[in-house]
Amino acid sequence: MSKQILVLPGDGIGPEIMAEAVKVLQLANDKYSLGFELSFDELGGAAYDKYGVPLADETLERARAADAILLGAVGGPKWDAIEPALRPERGLLKIRSQLGLFGNLRPAILYPQLAEASSLKPEVVAGLDILIVRELTGGIYFGQPRESKVLENGERMAYDTLPYSESEIRRIAKVGFDMAMVRNKKLCSVDKANVLASSQLWRAVVEEVAKDYPEVELSHMYVDNAAMQLVRAPKQFDVMVTDNMFGDILSDEASMLTGSIGMLPSASLDANNKGMYEPCHGSAPDIAGQGIANPLATILSVSMMLRYSFNQAAAADAIELAVSKVLDQGLRTGDIFSAGMTKVGTAGMGDAVVEALRSL
Ligand code: NAD
Repeated sequence: MSKQILVLPGDGIGPEIMAEAVKVLQLANDKYSLGFELSFDELGGAAYDKYGVPLADETLERARAADAILLGAVGGPKWDAIEPALRPERGLLKIRSQLGLFGNLRPAILYPQLAEASSLKPEVVAGLDILIVRELTGGIYFGQPRESKVLENGERMAYDTLPYSESEIRRIAKVGFDMAMVRNKKLCSVDKANVLASSQLWRAVVEEVAKDYPEVELSHMYVDNAAMQLVRAPKQFDVMVTDNMFGDILSDEASMLTGSIGMLPSASLDANNKGMYEPCHGSAPDIAGQGIANPLATILSVSMMLRYSFNQAAAADAIELAVSKVLDQGLRTGDIFSAGMTKVGTAGMGDAVVEALRSL
């Protein structure tokens, strides 16, 4: 039976990078007889323009029915002035929460060819391979109540709420330990337990889950220290597990260790490994429409999809190898360019990966 993949290119550079990822996916589909059928729809600002909402009900139903979802990125200045509930990012948060995609896997891997593109010294980052496991459907981005208001004295004030239940922490902690088991068996749980009640519960539940994983070496770190350690000595980490907001920030920080956010894929999984796959970066309105965005994060998201949702390790390995070969050839988009390399645009990079994959 064929497998259904819903493709949501989104906004800004989303359609540009997705066009390249789809080329790679279609070649992998043919080459490895994967039996995928692709369908396309809108999310974010593009959905607002077409349907009047950032996530239409029919799109959500198609996403529920699909076996996996491939997403570009959403958002942009065009939609900054619309009411908050209809902003593009609300569509993204809604699809994540409605599909129960609570486990966000964000690898930060430094391709040796890009050691020069990192903002840190090559010896600090050479060989870097971290996996950040971020809780994605709870915490402060979803917590209620949240409010902006004007006090009686005329001063404006606003607040958010950071809730976590035991079961939410337990299930993401298990993802962290499971990932550590298939890697180097080291898990660092990041929290702010010296200040936040939610973090104190987080730490206690992670300790409980650890009892089921005696082989994994567990450590805890406050988020401020983790932010510092990531730039001081990032190779001390194997798997990091953390809440929604801390994971959002730390994974962007980790991305720069690898040279560019344009290199980083991600997977968001539900309890049955159904997933949505997307680059870690946003819609990059500053470079949209210029054909210069790096499509590799989205192409590598295709490889994560093959690995995690479809158990197609050989095809996933081949895509990653094709990316590595293209970097070996010295091809670079602007964000990872360094002297002596050959600058290519979005389509040039996508075509090169397709050629490299074809010749494997
Ligand atoms: P961003 O990730 O879009 O861009 C940050 C910087 O990285 C920019 O200079 C951009 O040009 C560069 N960049 C990003 N992706 C790149 C790529 N593939 N190749 C080359 N350079 C790349 O973050 P931002 O500027 O804070 O946000 C822009 C918009 O994206 C906002 O509307 C924001 O809400 C949205 N956003 C969406 C997502 C998502 O869809 N998952 C994530 C983050 C931000």
